[in-house]
Formats: sequence, structure tokens, C-alpha cells
Amino acid sequence: MTEPLHTADIPASPMPAGFVEKAPLERYVPPAKPSLVGLSRAALAEALGGIGVPAAQRKMRVQQLWHWLYVRGARSFDEMTSVSKELRAALDAHFTLARPEVVAEQVSVDGTRKWLLRLPGEHPGENPHEVECVYIPEADRGTLCVSSQVGCTLTCSFCHTGTQRLVRNLTPGEIVGQIMVARDRLGDWLGAERAKGEGLPTTGDRFVSNIVMMGMGEPLYNFEAVRDALLVVADGDGIAISKRRITLSTSGVVPNIARAGAEIGCMLAVSLHAVRDELRNELVPLNRKYPIATLLDACRNYPGLSNARRITFEYVMLKGVNDSLDDAKALVRLLKGIPAKINLIPFNPWPGSKYECSDWDRIEQFSEIIFNAGYASPVRTPRGRDILAACGQLKSATEKLTARERLALRAMAMTD
Ligand code: SAH
Ligand code: SF4
Repeated sequence: MTEPLHTADIPASPMPAGFVEKAPLERYVPPAKPSLVGLSRAALAEALGGIGVPAAQRKMRVQQLWHWLYVRGARSFDEMTSVSKELRAALDAHFTLARPEVVAEQVSVDGTRKWLLRLPGEHPGENPHEVECVYIPEADRGTLCVSSQVGCTLTCSFCHTGTQRLVRNLTPGEIVGQIMVARDRLGDWLGAERAKGEGLPTTGDRFVSNIVMMGMGEPLYNFEAVRDALLVVADGDGIAISKRRITLSTSGVVPNIARAGAEIGCMLAVSLHAVRDELRNELVPLNRKYPIATLLDACRNYPGLSNARRITFEYVMLKGVNDSLDDAKALVRLLKGIPAKINLIPFNPWPGSKYECSDWDRIEQFSEIIFNAGYASPVRTPRGRDILAACGQLKSATEKLTARERLALRAMAMTD
């Protein structure tokens, strides 16, 4: 949902201040060897078997690799000092620890960071693909917004991603790789030099504490890869981000909602955006296949749903489209009985989009109706009005993420 990057060569870690310019496309060389990043423990054991590691040793070796990869963030096998030299050489001959290539990086004044990542095309000789990954820091948490696909097959009328023609599913390695890249750039590994700068969390020992599957793509249309990746991310001996801090956002792929609960066990966010089928058909065309009543039934049956584990309903504020006070009241009625949170997202316009963001006063009135119905402060962006007011002034040569964009991202990241 974000705009393209303008950007310079990526300097070596640790994180630089300022912004990085986009590397030329011709420089892209797809990886020659497969990366071990994102493999499940079972797949890793199989890979080890393939290079001759005896069956009896594999479990222990997997545990070692897991630690180096996901606790220490190793980028070369040489770093793995607890692994024998012979095995390190064998691993190096067949595999890499490569993450997606970072081709651009932007750091905003408020600490928000955006990375543009380049991934191999699907077929040899095909141009590489690009996806974005955004880091949204708050005082007490750091949320990473992760992509699941290049582009999206769905065509929500307010979403920029939906206008992209090119679509491919990301692999588990490319999904886990986004978290690896963010932690590399932030120095968020055990023993690494931590990034410094404005806006980074000041509590806790992690810069990346929360994950939202809210970048490009519809995660429930790339179910297996997203599931396998999130299980790696949640593994307690590795990256160890608890499933309660991982939120998957769907536009409403009903058949896979129950699977997400059963097979991943993460938190769910649903892009509702309208309270009537007629309007939702227009905003989220998938609604024609899975209308609101069917979607809400799937939500009521979401495995593990309780007052302590609520579903987040996302509602993008579109001026004169879905933002009447009657809509707010209808929203409250519609969600009655579902343990829910409501996240109002200020619309982030893009070139050619046919909508405008609701006025801030309207967002506040809408939010008040929801608040009075018992939902905790639905727009938790107290600085929002200031940011909107400052819009256009904050933008400078090194400030490419617009204020509106950051506001929308912050609202999206508020899932707990
Ligand atoms: N495909 C998934 C997840 C990615 S989009 C989904 O649709 O839920 C993440 C959130 O951003 C969704 O709620 C989506 O509706 C919202 N979104 C998309 N474009 C937006 C825009 N221009 N401004 C504000 N929110 C937007
Ligand atoms: Fe955009 Fe999500 Fe709709 Fe796809 S499903 S077009 S990513 S809002």
C-alpha cells in the first residue's frame, strides 16, 4: 500500500542514518545456491542428509544451525564456531544464508523504516521482482509489516497493490527473509551492534517485537508458505516472536480463515471496510464470493477466539464513502457478540486513486461512536492530527515516506 522508493547503494551494516538509493536493476544477480533461511526443521534435516550428515547427528546439527541463523543472525557459515570446520565447508559448498537483497532503504524522522527488496523472477532470465517491508517503531514495541506476495490477485478499489499486474507467491524463505533483513539492518540479533536513532523502542530487548502480515499480497492465498514461515518465526528456540504478537490480515478468504487458526494459531485481522454488501462488493470485490455474513460466521468460529484473543477489524476511512456516523453505528451492531477490536485506518492516497481520506474531525466522531460502544480507543494515533496538519511540510529530500503514509502504517500496526 506504499509508494515506490527513490533511493543509493546499500552500505554495509550497521544501519546508516538517512536514506539509501535504489541499486540499478542490471546489477542484480540471482543466488546461485539455495538459501537455508526459512526452511522448517524437517526440511533443514533433509538438506543436511543431502550433504551426507548422518541421520543420528541431524537433530543436533539442526539445533545448532537454528541458533546461529535465528538467534545470532549469522550471515556466513564461517561465523558458526560451534560447527566443525568440515561441516561448515560442506554447507558453504551447497547452500547460502542469503536473505532477499535490500536495494533501497528509507529512514523517517519518526523512526519508520522502509526497505525495498529484490527477489528472483520465477523463470530463468526473467526480471527480478520487488516487494516492500516496513518497520514501525513505538516506545514499547517495534512492528514489522511483512509481504506475502509480489502484487495481489485481488483488486480492492482503494489499494495500490491491487493495481499491480505482476503476481507471484513468496516462498517461506522470502517471508522469513524479510524479518531477517529488518533485524540485520537494526542490529537486532544477540551480540550485534544495535541501531541508534530517533523513534526506536526504548523498552524490551527486541527492536522487532511484533509482525503484521499486512504488506503486499493476500496471505491466505499463499497459505502454505505463510504458515511455514510464521511457524519458523514463532519457534521458541529461534526468532521466538509469540503467536500473540503475529497478526495475519485477510481481505476475507473464508475457507482459509479456520485453517489459519488451526495450523498457524496467530492473531487475525479482517479487512472489513464496509458494513453493507453492496459497498463492500465495490471496495473489496472478494466480497461477491464471500459476503459479510459468511465472513463474520468464519470469524465467530475462529479457533482460539476469546476476549483475550480478539479479532481486529480493519476499516479504512474513505471520505464520503464509508465514513458516515450511521456506518459507525452499523459497524458496532454488526460486530456485536464477536470478541473484536476495531482499527480505523486513515486512507493513504496513491497517484490515480479515486478516494480521499476522511477529514480528521470525522475520523474522531466515528471513533467516538465505537469507543462509546465499549471498544478501546480505536484510533490510537494521538499525533495523527498533527501529522496530517504537517503533511507536505515534513517531506524533504530525505523524507520520502509521506506523513499520511506513516499515519496509515501506524494505525495498521496497532493490533494489540
Ligand atoms: N491483503 C491483506 C493484507 C494486506 S493489506 C488484506 O487486504 O487484508 C493490509 C491493510 O491495508 C488492509 O486492511 C488493507 O485494506 C489496507 N489498505 C490497503 N490499501 C490502503 C490504503 N491505500 N490506505 C489505507 N489502508 C490500505
Ligand atoms: Fe490490497 Fe489486500 Fe485487497 Fe490485495 S487483498 S488488493 S493487498 S487490500
